[in-house]
Amino acid sequence: MDAGASREPTERDNWLGSALIQVAVVVPVVAVLAYSIPGHRSDLTPSIAFFVVAVAVIDLIPVPGWGGLQLSLSFPVLLGVAILYPPPIAAGVAFMGSFDPRELHRGVSLLKAAWNRSQMALSILVGGAIYHRLAEPDSPWTHMLPVTLLATVVAYAINTLCVAVQTAVHRRLSVWSVLVKMHGRAPVEFLLSYLGLGMFGAVIARFYRVEGLWSVVVFLGPLVFARQMYFRSRALADRLAEQNEILAEQARRLEQLLEMEHHRIDELRELNRMKGEFVAVVSHELRTPVTALIGYAKTLQQPEFADDAAMRREFLERMERQGDRLVRMIENLLTASRIESRQLPLSIGRVLFEDLVREVIESLATPEERIQVSVPTDLPVLQTDRQLLSRVLANLLDNALKYSPDGPPCELGAKAAGDHIVFWVLDHGIGIPPEELPRIFDRFYQVDSSSTRTFHGAGLGLSLVKDLLAHLGGSIEVESSPGSGSRFTVTLPIRTPTEAPRTKLPTPS
Ligand code: ADP
Repeated sequence: MDAGASREPTERDNWLGSALIQVAVVVPVVAVLAYSIPGHRSDLTPSIAFFVVAVAVIDLIPVPGWGGLQLSLSFPVLLGVAILYPPPIAAGVAFMGSFDPRELHRGVSLLKAAWNRSQMALSILVGGAIYHRLAEPDSPWTHMLPVTLLATVVAYAINTLCVAVQTAVHRRLSVWSVLVKMHGRAPVEFLLSYLGLGMFGAVIARFYRVEGLWSVVVFLGPLVFARQMYFRSRALADRLAEQNEILAEQARRLEQLLEMEHHRIDELRELNRMKGEFVAVVSHELRTPVTALIGYAKTLQQPEFADDAAMRREFLERMERQGDRLVRMIENLLTASRIESRQLPLSIGRVLFEDLVREVIESLATPEERIQVSVPTDLPVLQTDRQLLSRVLANLLDNALKYSPDGPPCELGAKAAGDHIVFWVLDHGIGIPPEELPRIFDRFYQVDSSSTRTFHGAGLGLSLVKDLLAHLGGSIEVESSPGSGSRFTVTLPIRTPTEAPRTKLPTPS
């Protein structure tokens, strides 16, 4: 019994005090044994050798860490020996039987090894002395049992005290705290276990007296075997419990995966629904300008318009505007499809931002006074993809014009900011409610997606702007308030990194 054999030594340990206590027990015990055993030479029968070997063998069988005192077999054998033989002989059996050759491998010091033997020998010596003072090996059961129990309690107390005092001195703790640690929260159970072992010892002694050595062998053999079986089944049960836990953990993970899969399916369903809606919206968006174009063409063919040059010019201008709208729509669709299939190669070249702005505004075919441009002439020349940047500008300006039909002019401004340029598109139109802002860059998202909405569009422009800017190494922010207008601010590197982050496939939010 050691209150903490597995503990790592520390500098605080009181080695000297501990060694003195060990010496104080070992020396007298060895001296008493050496002095007394020769006087009992007549008691040294071959059975003694059997008990020494039995205790040694039982002690050598490995016991798992959880195998507590209740499963000790050597202690009851020693108690039986203490009942059968004079105390010095029984103590000698305890001393020699507890010899453990494994201690030689573990480098246990001679003193510690002698201490381990001596404390057990001491408790058997005193316990045996008490028994022999109060009873005989052949005393009737009624007399034998209480005396055995008393002797066991004393043996238990001595053994426990030896270990507790030595550990307390060694670690500079109080004896009480060590006792509490040794007995855990079940001191009564601990004592009862000892008493149980004492009765077991009495049974062994009685078997020996009545039937002889063979009965002890027959009694102990199956017990040792049964104990080993128990250890094995417990180990198996522990392994099964461990595997059960692993299985339960895996089941939990599978459940999580299943939940994620359900979530993914819901997302895909939503995406599918949005795509269906998108096809309907796009068809409508494409049909409207085509129908208008056909209508204007038919009208122009009427003979009464043949000579009305002003009317013809106005109709042709309207046709051009509808055509431009159609082209922008188709270009957006093509870009979206390239982004989805990740086929959007960068074609980097020199771009004068001012020129690009002029070109885009012209392509919008909108009255000049609708857009106020304030782009400094000394902006650095950009190294970027002209085509993609023009799509960004066209979409932002198109939205600004579209969502501020009657408002003051929209504004487009720009400035240099280190190795970036910052440009913004500002309008004084309908604005966007704050709760909608996080979603307007989602693909197919429209603040008003009802079939009766006022403004045309497919919910594609801003998501493209965001993806294209990610492709060009830039970013976009929006500030808006309903009724006051919106401001979209873009930050773009002057030199587009050639390894720009690839745009991701859009997913519904
Ligand atoms: P759409 O083709 O519907 O304009 P976008 O992706 O370009 O699609 O824009 C998404 C939504 O964001 C629009 O439906 C609109 O409600 C809102 N939005 C975008 N730009 C503006 C703006 N300048 N002013 C007000 N609302 C805007």
